[in-house]
Amino acid sequence: MDETDEPIAAGDSVTLAISMPLDRGFLRRHCSSCEREFKRLGDRVTETSEDAVLTCPYCYQSAPRDDWWTEEQHAYMQNVTYEKVVAPKLREFQRSLKGMGGGLLGLSFDLKGIEHAPALPPQEIADMARVEFPCHVDEPLRVAEDWEFDVACTICGTRYPFTDVRRQDQSHE
Ligand SMILES: [Zn+2]
Ligand SMILES: [Zn+2]
Repeated sequence: MDETDEPIAAGDSVTLAISMPLDRGFLRRHCSSCEREFKRLGDRVTETSEDAVLTCPYCYQSAPRDDWWTEEQHAYMQNVTYEKVVAPKLREFQRSLKGMGGGLLGLSFDLKGIEHAPALPPQEIADMARVEFPCHVDEPLRVAEDWEFDVACTICGTRYPFTDVRRQDQSHE
């Protein structure tokens, strides 16, 4: 899970596969409305279509697919992008300037700032209670153990009492 692929450039865009640590297959998600965290299956997150709108299991607010990254995940993606895409381009630019005689047109380009500490993936721990929804059985979540209110399915927003949808983890996971 800790392998990060090299960027694939196609035309004007660069695709970068960034691996995030999982908890028993679940990826940590963050709701920007209520600031609470839950977890959704990593495979499902990857397969979610670009225009999908998802519901927070706690506050029932909905948000587009890309709005659920935690601050740590977001910082990690930015750091990896910098390391794999931006810094190599800057080094290339630096080399090309040297090839042009360096101080061409009085342009001096200080590149000391290119090198950063390596991007470290966010830490993930095994926590939260597994919940499974009758409306979308293939979209289980993990939510706070001590949640006392209804839990909403992230796909369709249907709400259920926490105790009705809570499931024990299977030991083979
Ligand atoms: Zn929320
Ligand atoms: Zn549902």
